[in-house]
Amino acid sequence: MITPRSDVALRPGYHSPQVDVRVRLNTNESPFPPPDEWLDDVLREAAMVHWNRYPDRSAIALRTAIGALHGLGPEWVFAANGSNEVLQTVLLAFGGPGRTAALWEPTYALHSHLAETTSTQVVVGERGADFALDVDEIRRVITEAGPSVVFLCSPNNPTGVADSPALVEEVLAMARSGDALLVVDEAYGQFSGWSATSLLGEGEPLVVVRTYSKTWAMAGLRLGYLVGPPEVVNALEKVVLPYHLDTLKQAIGLAALSYETEMRARVEQLVAERERVQAALAAMDVDYWRSGANFVLFRPRRVAGQAVWNALLSHSILVRDCSSWPRLDGCLRVTIGAPAENDAFIEALAETLEKMTS
Ligand SMILES: *Cc1c(COP(=O)(O)O)cnc(C)c1O
Repeated sequence: MITPRSDVALRPGYHSPQVDVRVRLNTNESPFPPPDEWLDDVLREAAMVHWNRYPDRSAIALRTAIGALHGLGPEWVFAANGSNEVLQTVLLAFGGPGRTAALWEPTYALHSHLAETTSTQVVVGERGADFALDVDEIRRVITEAGPSVVFLCSPNNPTGVADSPALVEEVLAMARSGDALLVVDEAYGQFSGWSATSLLGEGEPLVVVRTYSKTWAMAGLRLGYLVGPPEVVNALEKVVLPYHLDTLKQAIGLAALSYETEMRARVEQLVAERERVQAALAAMDVDYWRSGANFVLFRPRRVAGQAVWNALLSHSILVRDCSSWPRLDGCLRVTIGAPAENDAFIEALAETLEKMTS
């Protein structure tokens, strides 16, 4: 029987347990569904699709609307099936054999995973004790490794820490002089104040990646995009599969953008809930990191994270166990849910810690 290539056979693959529970706070989804009016749009658009025809390969209407969100033309937009596919396409075009991608752990696992599956060498730098990035450490890695792709993630998953505008500007300058492409993953961008999109420019080696999965409450749709210089977008179009975005997805992804006000209201509510959850964590026997996203990373001080994860699961509450991730021994990540879900989490965690330490 044929076996996969040896490096593939050795890969652990992507693991995030999908357990059927009452309170699901493990994958940073929105707890709220998109607006009912959008669902009406979905049905109307589905009735209008020419199912016997291929989609618009250039997805021009969708890309025009996404570009308008950022004050840019469609030639600045590349869309794909989730931002993971956007990231993979970036690596197919700008990474690959003989090239290197730089990232700083702990960060989003898919950056290194997708680099490896595209045969891009990964060079890993360190974050400080508070998980903030240090400009000198970034310069060291970029100077030593000469990467083609440099990944930032702001706010960073799983730490929640957002990078400062000054830091991103400095890294962009390093990318410019080092002939690298700076990729800023802003999957949680709307939860935090500042966006790297303000640094985009003609000839600047910068792309900013966004997704419908979190702030737009559409993880089930699988749609993400990047904004960046047209020459980068052109390169991505050359390696992505033809007709990769189906007709219905293009139409309903476009329709979703009419509900930006609703999106902002959801984000505002989740930010308020995040502050409430953090205040509750501050009163418990845990360390936590102040988050600029819709999740909070925390570490029980006197008991094993994994034991707490199990105890929460017995309350039918699912959070993410990050213990096996680089530098995150004993850490758990909780997604901010609806108020009642957050109450359930806070109550169960307090009870668990009380029981396990008394
Ligand atoms: C959730 C997440 C994504 C989203 O991936 P999709 O494929 O768009 O669902 C991308 N980047 C980061 C950092 C994330 O946390």
